[in-house]
Amino acid sequence: MTGFDGEDDVVELCRDLIRIDSTNAGDNAGPGERVAAEYVAEKLSEVGVESRILESDTRRASVVARIEGTDPGRDALLLHGHLDVVPFNADDWTHHPMSGEIADGCVWGRGAVDMKDMDAMILAVVRRRLREGRRPPRDVVLAFTADEEAGGRYGAQWLAQEHAEVFEGCTEAIGEVGGFSVSLGQDKRLYLIEAAEKGIAWMRLTARGRAGHGSMLNAENAVTELAEAMARLGRYEWPVRLTPTVRAFLEETSAALEIEFDPERPEATVAKLGPLARMIGAVLRNTTNPTMLESGYKANVIPQTATGHVDGRFLPGYEEEFFATVDELLGPNVTREFVYHDIAVETGFDGPLVRAMAEALEAEDPGARAVPYTLSGGTDLKAFSRLGIRGFGFAPLKLPADLDFSGMFHGVDERVPVDSLRFGVRVLDRFLDHS
Ligand SMILES: [Zn+2]
Repeated sequence: MTGFDGEDDVVELCRDLIRIDSTNAGDNAGPGERVAAEYVAEKLSEVGVESRILESDTRRASVVARIEGTDPGRDALLLHGHLDVVPFNADDWTHHPMSGEIADGCVWGRGAVDMKDMDAMILAVVRRRLREGRRPPRDVVLAFTADEEAGGRYGAQWLAQEHAEVFEGCTEAIGEVGGFSVSLGQDKRLYLIEAAEKGIAWMRLTARGRAGHGSMLNAENAVTELAEAMARLGRYEWPVRLTPTVRAFLEETSAALEIEFDPERPEATVAKLGPLARMIGAVLRNTTNPTMLESGYKANVIPQTATGHVDGRFLPGYEEEFFATVDELLGPNVTREFVYHDIAVETGFDGPLVRAMAEALEAEDPGARAVPYTLSGGTDLKAFSRLGIRGFGFAPLKLPADLDFSGMFHGVDERVPVDSLRFGVRVLDRFLDHS
């Protein structure tokens, strides 16, 4: 049965993908995704799916394909996953990050969680269905993208701009980061489905003053100006803003925890989420974290300018408020420019597609509760949403209660349980039937 059964297939596909080096060091550095893209194209062609490899730059390859549904009157559904992974330091790992080794019931390696697992699940479910002659009801567009880990300039953004025809008719999408279980108590599992993402504002700040000798009086010191502005941003207590998705998440989670949800004290619910609190706590409000300072060149010289960087993130619907507040905190003598700026996205947690996700989970894990949540980071979804596609993070995995899953994104000893991968294929298969 190996190779024909989607559940065995997914494990081998995941291991193979992990063994292919598609490390993305940013700024177009690294081996590129070409080898991974060719692998995916070959696995699709084995079941008769003709794909296209599209290169935005040398070896920066994405794979796209379309599978015709049985109901041509319906809009298309996009399944997307990125092929690149972040770099690693192999010495820190228990098993080599490119080994794809199976140990302790898990597939180990860079990308096991983010997100060669989902790439393998998409491939496995498509291969299984087509081998059994089961076409999905609606057209399914597949996109395995380059460069997500560096913002998607050579991947999803480029595809959406230069090859919009690929996504013709697509109205909805699933991709990362979501669909994984969080255990609350004995046998209660929430499945977090991403329905919103914060926006991104990485800013370079510049203070201009009067250059001069470090021994003299200087009331226009650029370093002082910058340091004060950075400190104001870093220490600012952004007010809690409960967006529809965050509110729904907190209400559902409180109900599952059997605690009262108090909108005035959302932190009380978040505090009960264990390691997940790191991820969820950041979506109650906008954030501004100073990350880099680079100013001056000699201890006794006051430089004319000083620059620093701040990582800002804003909630869907609060971009205007965010920048108005930032400008107020910066004051008149510090200017800002973008190093990177991208939109926030949010979609309602309702409709047939949401039901299809919830029911597929419930069928494979009775008592499973699908809950929408907001991702504090960004994904390729931002680029696809510009084409009018509403998207969800839905890479379904039923996880052991003690696995710190959210801590493994870009972390050391990234690994995914074999049983979780198998579960994911079964859920996606059911989901496609009813999508
Ligand atoms: Zn990812």
